[in-house]
Amino acid sequence: MIIVKSPREIALMKRAGEVLGLVFKTLEKEIRAGMSTMDIDTIVERVIRENDCIPAEKGYHGFPGSACVSVNETLIHGIPSSKIILREGDIVSVDVVATYQGYSADACRTFAVGTITERAARLIEVTKHSFFEAVKLIAPGVHLGDISEAIQKYNESHGYNVVRDYTGHGIGAHMHEDPSIPNYGKSGTGPILEQGMTLAIEPMVLEGRKDTRVLGDGWTVKSKDGKLTSHYENTVVVTEDGYEIITMYEGEK
Ligand code: MG
Repeated sequence: MIIVKSPREIALMKRAGEVLGLVFKTLEKEIRAGMSTMDIDTIVERVIRENDCIPAEKGYHGFPGSACVSVNETLIHGIPSSKIILREGDIVSVDVVATYQGYSADACRTFAVGTITERAARLIEVTKHSFFEAVKLIAPGVHLGDISEAIQKYNESHGYNVVRDYTGHGIGAHMHEDPSIPNYGKSGTGPILEQGMTLAIEPMVLEGRKDTRVLGDGWTVKSKDGKLTSHYENTVVVTEDGYEIITMYEGEK
């Protein structure tokens, strides 16, 4: 069942979303070669707690970090580690959920570490752009499949693949709610959007084949072929006549 949120609930989610904006604004300035993925986690947790939110990923099904920090061929769910050191030319995705007074927002950015290849920059850009191609379709009465299809088509038309094993999701009082939001699908199918629904839309894109594998730690998801991956996500509210993205900072591109 897809839970429609009240204006009060949406206001709480927006505050959590603002704090995620602040997290990304901080990381944009801080991320550099020589840092560990644990250093990123430390920054994320500090910004979240300083702003009266809770890092919801910490302890979620036993996940040890405040953020999922995934480097290069790691697509999602990378466990922060002091042993994983960022190098010039890496790309690193940081996926974070903040909870404010019981309500959550979820977002992810993929950052460049120093100067990266044109190939890596294009992957990040296309992944991000596919989110905006899809989100602009959102309004009450629209089928969820329209969103999924837009993400798939945009990425595939650029020669990439979207993941099949993981999806976006509804969010609110719980980190994962209905509906599941695949990055592939068919327009005109699936649930119909209503005002007050809150959705975490998250293109997870692979430069190579779509297959993934999970490491022995039970979390880390990598591309099976070892090629680069990218992830971009925002939490979005369905409004009376369209949508509102609640996890970007002012002036963010
Ligand atoms: Mg997320």
